[in-house]
Amino acid sequence: MQLNLANPIIMSSVENIASEENKKSLNFIEAIVEKDLADGKNGGRIQTRFPPEPNGYLHIGHAKAICMDFGIAQQYGGVCNLRFDDTNPTKEEVEYVDSIMEDIRWLGFDWENVYYASDYFRQLWDFAVQLIETGQAYIDEQSSETIAQQKGTPTQPGIHSPYRDRPREENLTLFKKMNTGEIPEGAMVLRAKIDMASPNMHFRDPVIYRVIHHPHHRTGTQWKAYPMYDFAHGQSDYFERVTHSICTLEFVVHRPLYDRFIDELKTFHPEDGDYRPKQYEFNRLNLTYTMMSKRKLLQLVRDGLVNGWDDPRMPTLSGLRRRGYTPESIRKFIDKIGYTKFEALIDVALLEHAVREELNLRAKRVSAVIDPVKLIITNYPEGQTEKMEAINNPEDETMGSHEIAFSRELYIEREDFMEEAPKKFFRMTPGQEVRLKNAYIVRCIGCKKDAEDRIEEIYAEYDPQTRSGMPESNRKVKGTLHWVSVGHSIPAEVRLYDRLFSIENPAEEKDRDFREWLNPDSLIVKTGARVEQELLQAKPLEYFQFQRTGYFNVDPDSTTDKLIFNRTVSLKDSKNK
Ligand code: ATP
Ligand code: MG
Repeated sequence: MQLNLANPIIMSSVENIASEENKKSLNFIEAIVEKDLADGKNGGRIQTRFPPEPNGYLHIGHAKAICMDFGIAQQYGGVCNLRFDDTNPTKEEVEYVDSIMEDIRWLGFDWENVYYASDYFRQLWDFAVQLIETGQAYIDEQSSETIAQQKGTPTQPGIHSPYRDRPREENLTLFKKMNTGEIPEGAMVLRAKIDMASPNMHFRDPVIYRVIHHPHHRTGTQWKAYPMYDFAHGQSDYFERVTHSICTLEFVVHRPLYDRFIDELKTFHPEDGDYRPKQYEFNRLNLTYTMMSKRKLLQLVRDGLVNGWDDPRMPTLSGLRRRGYTPESIRKFIDKIGYTKFEALIDVALLEHAVREELNLRAKRVSAVIDPVKLIITNYPEGQTEKMEAINNPEDETMGSHEIAFSRELYIEREDFMEEAPKKFFRMTPGQEVRLKNAYIVRCIGCKKDAEDRIEEIYAEYDPQTRSGMPESNRKVKGTLHWVSVGHSIPAEVRLYDRLFSIENPAEEKDRDFREWLNPDSLIVKTGARVEQELLQAKPLEYFQFQRTGYFNVDPDSTTDKLIFNRTVSLKDSKNK
């Protein structure tokens, strides 16, 4: 089965998805697990694993797998282990191992044990030797290109390698040499002798061992012969006694080989009785305007096109965390999109919706003016300040309130003023009344411009009877603006993020390099913002709602001398409406 995203169905509403898969009923994997439990399979034992290759940081696609693997174990009283699939030392690093652990915990899951495929290098080697001894594997000295050419096509059988019938002893001697460093990389491989005419291409004498001289992050230089994925994954499941080996749809075609090697392994372990791990596959998560390939994400990091794996524009869990996403919002999103057996492309607006919903309930409301222009309340006494009460979260009374200082000189957003405004402009324009949030109703009386015709100052008069609680405070005015006091606000840098790619499905555009589709406006830095003093106490990663603007969090680079905020998401989904 091939993934075909050329004409993807874009899932952009939860209703679409929910109707495909009635959310009240079990997903198909839960149904399988429940049936296995009812049938008493594996003595009622449920064991899963999450098996990342430590060759990059986890992305939100991995979160979908994590929620499944750990979720099934949690739900059915089972065990989920973390297993690093570390069979390719050239790409794997300890940094990735550490980040993977951090991200899984952040998402809210914990493993029973940590395993490494490299723990089984000895057992896998012994199994390979057994295959050689029983005439089921041979050393091929042809180049990988030749081997690929001889594979044939799904409709045409392949060609036997001239080395296929090499004597056992010779195979054994060469296999040992593959591991001593005497054999250069690429000079020979070990292949399973199965069936060069099989309709399943993976059965056409798959390569199961290759030579790599690069030291391994755990086993150092002990091994030079490394097992391939298909010769490590199922076996690792078997050694660990996994019951349900859950993965994504691209592994459907690998499943017969998975089962075959387990069958073979079982012949050497009669003591294991009926036990065998079974592989099940669900659809990968693909999101619009981004991509999920670790290899490509690594390229962006290496080329300096983003600021590291945790750049807030990245679909990595560390990027989303830095961006201000909460683990709950990610888990809710995964739960909403569900698990099916066909590929789809999910609208990133659904993810944004999930975080918006979550932060609406949790984020403290504060005032921040991103692109400030001065507003002078001409009839307000000079030198006077008032402390206005600002409700922290109208959705949650228990969050209380804080004070915000009001004075004669304020900042408002430049875009909230128009000298000559159309009828429907309910913000600041000469002659019109607007409410200043948590403070007074003011009437604009004019503005001053500089030589370049740019607005320098705006003037307004306030009505002292309109402060909240005052007789006139309920007077109807159409617009409410946010503001900060010039003398009581602090400067801040605000980073406005947008989609990383400018097209919906950059992974599918094969005729151009994917980097050409990067959105040039994915980061806009506003260095002149002003925020209320309350934010001096903000802690790294703490999130806020900047009233009328969006949800923001404190970037880890932020200091009390230089506050830096990241926009998680705007208040409303303006793009899709
Ligand atoms: P990538 O292509 O991004 O490198 P991968 O499949 O090579 O991903 P692994 O580290 O091997 O990454 O993946 C660990 C687990 O996460 C596997 O079980 C894999 O099926 C699952 N997984 C990876 N990407 C996704 C995705 N986009 N959606 C759901 N599950 C995923
Ligand atoms: Mg992989």
